Amino acid sequence: MSQIFTGNFTQQEPLPEASIEAAVRVMRHGRLHRYNLAEGEKGETAQLEEEFAAFTGAKYCLAVASGGYALAAALRAAGARAGDAVLTNAFTLAPVPGAIANAGCTPVFVEVTDRLVMDLDDLKAKIARSGARFLMLSHMRGHIVDMDALMAICDGAGVQVIEDCAHTMGAAWNGVPSGRHGVAGCYSTQTFKHLNSGEGGFLVTDDAGLAARAIMLSGSYMLFERHTAGPPAEVFEQIKLETPNCSGRMDNLRAAILRPQLRNLPDQCAAWNARYQRIESGLANTPGVTVIERPAAESYVMSSFQFLCPDFTAEQMVALQKRTAARGVELKWFGADQPVGFTSRHDSWQYVAAQSLPNTDRILAGLMDMRLPLTFSLADCDLIAQIIREEAGILHQAG
Ligand SMILES: *Cc1c(COP(=O)(O)O)cnc(C)c1O
Repeated sequence: MSQIFTGNFTQQEPLPEASIEAAVRVMRHGRLHRYNLAEGEKGETAQLEEEFAAFTGAKYCLAVASGGYALAAALRAAGARAGDAVLTNAFTLAPVPGAIANAGCTPVFVEVTDRLVMDLDDLKAKIARSGARFLMLSHMRGHIVDMDALMAICDGAGVQVIEDCAHTMGAAWNGVPSGRHGVAGCYSTQTFKHLNSGEGGFLVTDDAGLAARAIMLSGSYMLFERHTAGPPAEVFEQIKLETPNCSGRMDNLRAAILRPQLRNLPDQCAAWNARYQRIESGLANTPGVTVIERPAAESYVMSSFQFLCPDFTAEQMVALQKRTAARGVELKWFGADQPVGFTSRHDSWQYVAAQSLPNTDRILAGLMDMRLPLTFSLADCDLIAQIIREEAGILHQAG
């Protein structure tokens, strides 16, 4: 009898008791809007921003309604205007090209490598060809490109980098926190990311003008002095009447449940990585399966797992998905013709003119993905790896 896994791939942990108590306190006093403060009070949202700025080492932090909102606001606040070309990964999640479209700009997709990161040769070629002045770099699924090499290319070409850190909150490249290499770093606190407030996001930057424009964009109603993690009031003088209010604030209830989670984040990151590494070693040397290489400079936080089956046909990928699903292991395949439940491929975003990305297409055709919620034990991870190894082995032999 083959073993079956019975865990739930979409079940996150409950929120910590401290979050629940903090939420109840906010609901009891009723001041949920971030600018609705009692005399002398510093709201939960402003305190969260101070704490997240300290966590990343950034000068300024703005909490907003979603990760996608943070990305669009960062792009506009960095100076992108309607019609501008913006470089981004050909493999990322839909809110990334969506944020570029939201700012009225046009995505120019850059190939990814079989390490699932941006292809730097293609980046150079596309900078030259498009003349783009902005790169929205997605650390998709927590895989970090050589940031020293990428920043050298972008700085040399006058390209501003906005980092999408939806999957790299708590991660670093060469000791520098993810989100701190470019002009702005954006994070998500949506349920399936590293902090969970249902929906939410952050923007961090050291650039006072960018921070002030982002605060005005988020809808600060001239109450910018209540942003204790924002730049001083004089920075707003220039821009406060010429920046539109595109409401996207965070509220005190979400901030209240995030603050205790932020304090626990380092432990949570270690717990995710322990699970990732169990599956990584469980899949090592599996015929037909390639695990993704992780360079020494990368301090990752892996709340999901990816592997490649480079020689499998489309039929074999579908068969692997079916066979593992029958044993309780939910794999997502990025090579399917029609997106199911999510979109992560350039050709699913048809509001953008079609672009040719043959390497990305080839890599995604062999790419599988699964979530690793912290409700899974290390023994669960061993069983998941065993199931994948057995089923991939059967298909590899038959193939
Ligand atoms: C989730 C996600 C986002 C945006 O997050 P939302 O908070 O859902 O808007 C951006 N990029 C990637 C890669 C994501 O997975």
